[in-house]
Amino acid sequence: MPAVKFAAVCLPIPVRTAFTYAVPDALVEGLVPGRRVKVPFGPRTIAAWFVGWAEPPEPGESGKPVETKQLLALLDDGPLVPPELIGLASWIADVYACSWGEALSACVPSGVRKETAEATVARAHLTGDPDASRTLVAMLAEKHPKRARLIRILLDHPDGIAVRDLLRSAQCTESPLQTLEKAGHVRIERRTLDLDPFAGAAAEALVDVRLTPAQAVALDRIGAAIDAQRPETFLLHGVTGSGKTEVYLRSIRRAVAAGRQAIVLVPEIALTPQTVARFRGWFERVAVLHSALTDAERRRQWRDIRAGRADVVIGPRSAVFAPVPTLGLIVVDEEHEPSFKQQSSPRYHARDVAIERASRTGAAVVLGSATPSLESWHAARNGQSTLLTLPTRAGGGTMPRVEIVDMVEEASQVKRVTLISRRLVKLLDDAFKRKRQAILFLNRRGFASALFCGRCGGTVKCPRCSLSLTLHRAHGTILCHHCGSEGPVPNSCPDCGGPGLARLGSGTERLEDAVRAVFPGVRMARMDSDSMHDRESYESVLGAFGRGELDLLLGTQMIAKGLHFPGITVVGVISADQGLAVPDFRAAERTFQLVAQVAGRAGRAEDPGRVVVQTIQPKHTALLRAAAHDFEGFAARELEERRKFHWPPFTRLVRALVTARTDDAARSRAAEIATAARAMLPDGAGDVLGPSQCPIHRIRDRFRWHAVVRAADVAVQHAVVLRLARFSPRAGGTELTVDVDPADLT
Ligand code: ADP
Ligand code: ZN
Repeated sequence: MPAVKFAAVCLPIPVRTAFTYAVPDALVEGLVPGRRVKVPFGPRTIAAWFVGWAEPPEPGESGKPVETKQLLALLDDGPLVPPELIGLASWIADVYACSWGEALSACVPSGVRKETAEATVARAHLTGDPDASRTLVAMLAEKHPKRARLIRILLDHPDGIAVRDLLRSAQCTESPLQTLEKAGHVRIERRTLDLDPFAGAAAEALVDVRLTPAQAVALDRIGAAIDAQRPETFLLHGVTGSGKTEVYLRSIRRAVAAGRQAIVLVPEIALTPQTVARFRGWFERVAVLHSALTDAERRRQWRDIRAGRADVVIGPRSAVFAPVPTLGLIVVDEEHEPSFKQQSSPRYHARDVAIERASRTGAAVVLGSATPSLESWHAARNGQSTLLTLPTRAGGGTMPRVEIVDMVEEASQVKRVTLISRRLVKLLDDAFKRKRQAILFLNRRGFASALFCGRCGGTVKCPRCSLSLTLHRAHGTILCHHCGSEGPVPNSCPDCGGPGLARLGSGTERLEDAVRAVFPGVRMARMDSDSMHDRESYESVLGAFGRGELDLLLGTQMIAKGLHFPGITVVGVISADQGLAVPDFRAAERTFQLVAQVAGRAGRAEDPGRVVVQTIQPKHTALLRAAAHDFEGFAARELEERRKFHWPPFTRLVRALVTARTDDAARSRAAEIATAARAMLPDGAGDVLGPSQCPIHRIRDRFRWHAVVRAADVAVQHAVVLRLARFSPRAGGTELTVDVDPADLT
């Protein structure tokens, strides 16, 4: 009788051990590591990952062989994950404290894992005419804010909107939409995707430029690593427009010419048809992994990539797992962007995963940025990576002139608080007269960020979160930016009944009013997540701006990044202080990055461009250095501070976040964890901050406490992670999240 074979199987559940299953003879042949299998688990059957053969299980205590459950079936037509990624997933599980199965599942998009991949997308339309729908909104607003929100968004989209985008914008699940559909207010139509935003991204004509000396040096060094199949990491530091993309493209060409593939990671927000078109101009076989793909398309792309039918794969964070057969190069563009860190388990950082994956396969990594993260900058200064610098704009354009305007001084001179300084008004006026364009950046949506009661001194808070509600005038509601809950605008203070609430803090809606008051005839569009629900509206506004049909764009983050419009000569940063007030050790770094990025939008053509940064802290280093385009000066000073106060990159953080329905439960579990972490840290190996209330103390009715471990080095950090991973993620109504190298501490 042939011996029974046993399989090591990883389940996509937060249990960090592999499970052993007996393999029926009929299934032995098709079993290849990386293949998904169906297994019984408790009362359920679930899809899991076969990772290798296992020893027969040890006999139980009585000496009798333990009964091993059997594999039920093989899934898919072969392994979904190549051996290289199985190893990488195991590394992720260890480093980020998740299970191997969870890490494997993170490597493969859910659309690929689904047994029946959807070939269609659902679109929602309103059935009634706009007036009837508006009446409906008014009726629903108070009792059913989610339904009201859905209809309001649909009103902005006469041609319908993809259900996925609709639900994301409205921050709700499918259930309120289904209610509206049943009541006949909304029609949902399924159709095959004919609006793939990138299908139309035709290849952009290739312009053959002569590399600047700095570009040539960079390409030489990167090319040498690619040719030698040496896993070297490069930090390509160059101001916006210095020709970094040009270096990426030529480096990729080196890898592709050698029969290898490249992965290009870009922040989701920068994954635009323009970006893709540029790559298509250079390479024929470009795969784009974007969020609008249907499951069926995603599946097809995945197969193509695995089969080596794509030379270049472009995508956001998760594209770092693209199963290319022979990886030659990974580019991480805008490597400092926080969106490369995943905010749910596994909480990996795509930049660090890229470096690990490359080191396992002999590929090169290029991290590009005008404002590198201090982690990457420090690593380059220490020789852990190779620094390459592009000091000037490639096309010959100059950097814009940045002026800082002190808004306290401004208020005392004009005798009132204003949103747009006289200096900025003057520059805008000049620009509009010369038929030039401008952008105004204010990183806060809505009209007013709080309603303030003069009698009790409080602000109107979300009933579920410890946060002030934002007034959205267009909707006539107050909205929580954390949980999405929404309500009517109160006339008096809900706490003390005091009359007349003051509107504090300004958002993009109020800025729109302020601009209109000064420049009544200006053609402008507002870009924030309230006004832009999907890629179509985003593209259509940018298209109009590009054609010169608009004079001004104002908005949040959305306009800060990656826009390339030569017509922009004036950029205004309305309130540079917002980011500085965030209680996080990276506040200054983030502010520097944002101001530098926004400023980089100006003066890309012959016209040098002007930037006005409005602030109440005109002497803040981050602002002064950003105004001087002095990244190195900023980094040097900021690193000094970090060293002095023991923050990364001089320490490595692990955050243990505990949430619970009661404050006490969250606090005491956080205390227990902090004590365990302290007990295991030898002298000089680091310290533990907390337990302390998180800066945002309550979200969605859950109280939040944390302990932050600052480990002296990565080995200590890893030991701490292993220790914390032994705590159960759920206990006594509390939930524990272990976040390694957290991107924020709020
Ligand atoms: P970055 O990625 O750093 O923002 P790009 O590679 O997009 O910079 O280059 C900015 C602009 O300058 C592009 O229009 C590009 O075609 C052009 N450019 C790049 N390198 C050169 C060069 N060596 N000579 C002339 N123009 C260049
Ligand atoms: Zn809330």
